[in-house]
Amino acid sequence: MEAHINKYLSIFRKQYTPIFRHTLMMLRRLVAKLQTHSHSNYCMKSSKPPCRFGFPKHTYRPSDSLLIIAYNPENLRHWRANMDIQLINDANGAAYYVCHYLYKSEPDELKCALANLINTVFKQNPDMTAFQRLWNVGLCVLKNRRVSAQEADFRLSNLCLIQSSRTVVSLNTRPKERRF
Ligand SMILES: [Zn+2]
Repeated sequence: MEAHINKYLSIFRKQYTPIFRHTLMMLRRLVAKLQTHSHSNYCMKSSKPPCRFGFPKHTYRPSDSLLIIAYNPENLRHWRANMDIQLINDANGAAYYVCHYLYKSEPDELKCALANLINTVFKQNPDMTAFQRLWNVGLCVLKNRRVSAQEADFRLSNLCLIQSSRTVVSLNTRPKERRF
C-alpha cells in the first residue's frame, strides 16, 4: 500500500528519483514555487490550530518538506500549476470528500443539523434502512439550507441556474496508449 501511494504522491521538497538532471532541476523549481505552503490571512483566520491547513506537517517528512503540499511529480511537470492531492482509499472516503466539498460554503446551521441527525437520530434508531437515512438527510437539507431570493425564484420558475457562452471541450490527458 505504501509503495502504491509513493508511486503517485510526493510530499518531498527534493526528488531523488532517477530522471534526467534538467528534469529534476525543473521539478525542484516547480515544487518550490507552486507546492510550498506559505501562511496567509486566510489560513491563519483562527488561532487554533495556528494554520487551518495544518502546516507545518510534522509526520513522516524530512525537515525541509514540512510545508510541501502533496503532489504528483509527473503531473506537476506537465501541469505546471498548483495541486493538492488527497488520498481517498475507500468509498466512504470518496463520499466524505464529495459531501465536504459540496457543503463547504454552507452556513454552520446546516452542518450542525446534519451532524445532529447523524450523531443522535441515526444512533438512536439503528434499524433505519439506508433509504430512510437518505430520506432524513434530504429532509434535513431542505429544511436547513439557506436559499437566496434569486435562487428560489429561478428554481420555482424552472430556469437554468448556470449558463455559459463558451463551449466546453474535454481533453483526454491520459498517455496515448491508455486513451479509449
Ligand atoms: Zn497556513
